[in-house]
Amino acid sequence: MPDRRRFVKGALSAAATHPLVLLFGATLTEVAHASAIVAVRVWPAQDYSRVTIETDRALEASSFLVDNPDRLVVDIQGLALDGTLKDLVSKVQPNDPYIAQVRVGQNRPGVVRLVFDLKTRVNPQVFNVAPVGNYKYRLVLDLYPAQPTDPLMAMLDEPGTQQKGEAAPAHLESEANGAAASQPQGDSHAAPQKAERSADHADEMKPAQAGVARLITVALDPGHGGEDPGATGAAGTHEKDVALAIAERVRARIDAEPNMRAMLTRDDDYFVPLNVRVQKARRVQADLFVSIHADAFVTPDARGSSVFALSESGASSSAARWLAQNENDADLIGGVNIHTRDVQLARVLLDLSTTAQISDSLKLGNAVLHELGGVNRLHKDSVEQAGFAVLKAPDIPSILVETAFISNPDEERRLNDDSYKDHLADAIVKGIKRYFAKNPPLAKTRLVS
Ligand SMILES: [Zn+2]
Repeated sequence: MPDRRRFVKGALSAAATHPLVLLFGATLTEVAHASAIVAVRVWPAQDYSRVTIETDRALEASSFLVDNPDRLVVDIQGLALDGTLKDLVSKVQPNDPYIAQVRVGQNRPGVVRLVFDLKTRVNPQVFNVAPVGNYKYRLVLDLYPAQPTDPLMAMLDEPGTQQKGEAAPAHLESEANGAAASQPQGDSHAAPQKAERSADHADEMKPAQAGVARLITVALDPGHGGEDPGATGAAGTHEKDVALAIAERVRARIDAEPNMRAMLTRDDDYFVPLNVRVQKARRVQADLFVSIHADAFVTPDARGSSVFALSESGASSSAARWLAQNENDADLIGGVNIHTRDVQLARVLLDLSTTAQISDSLKLGNAVLHELGGVNRLHKDSVEQAGFAVLKAPDIPSILVETAFISNPDEERRLNDDSYKDHLADAIVKGIKRYFAKNPPLAKTRLVS
């Protein structure tokens, strides 16, 4: 316990500049201990909504849920109720899937209470993240839905998937039923919706495609997001925004193909941990995984597109090793709750060899790299390899595309150009199709459920 008297002098001067604090009944010690808030941020998304409180010292918080109506109460120790914290109220957006509104107040001396009025029941995760990158201490409140969205059911519910379901009904149905069996709650909601949609769109349905063996599912992974902006260009462009914009263009092109469908690991500006990206791809039994990024280097003259695959035995160059380390740090910057790491996935990744996956990934990577060469100069004319965490699905050929250098002012400008992003997306899709033309997809075998 700190000696109360030691803080009196500093506390008095702090109290003089913060008369409101004393009004709320804080003791002198608490005033001296109060953490200064650097920023509050809210990241609403369908997967989960996140609230971040960034301070100059670590915060201690406790939380509990209240029913009727659903609320999440978070008590934070040693935090002064200031203008930045009150701003949190206005930062909650009307379209937040989980938070209706938040109320902020001094609960008792030295304790600020946040009350989140919820739109639906949530599973909250409240955790601290140590200072990293440009961030100081972060208290993170993640509000996950009590009934999580299943990426497979979400993809099947997308308009357009039903028409394709007609092209390959046996495969799709067996998959959907498999998912329903493991997700009984999702089944009761999804089945009637699908029936309605099929009826609504009956007149738009294309005839069944002759010769289509089965639907090809491509997982597209826009790098970074939310708390993790990725690299930032001199003009202020964030890698996370460029990555999402290009991934959305690739998705539109893939969904327009009669025998292909795409799944985005994130479709909004929020953080997705690297292992969750891999899990989402495996959940939809993706045939390919394509992670989309924009490169950065310490000097502004580095330029060009590059493509990476996983390596089981060291990186193919020191630059590739450095880049993989940088990309793997996304979890630190984005902020993951280390207490809920998925041990099951970790075990799968340890047990299964990735030799065949890497061999296929290199074929896919070469096809995509070849097409990118028609749009941009290549940074390296062969696919590089390193230990990228996001490429570790043992059963899915996976590549990471660095579309261009966001740290190069000329390439940053091009990455902000819509037609250039179209060209990049065209090249990635051409590469994917070129790969499948040479390596037709086999019948699916479920490796691990
Ligand atoms: Zn990146």
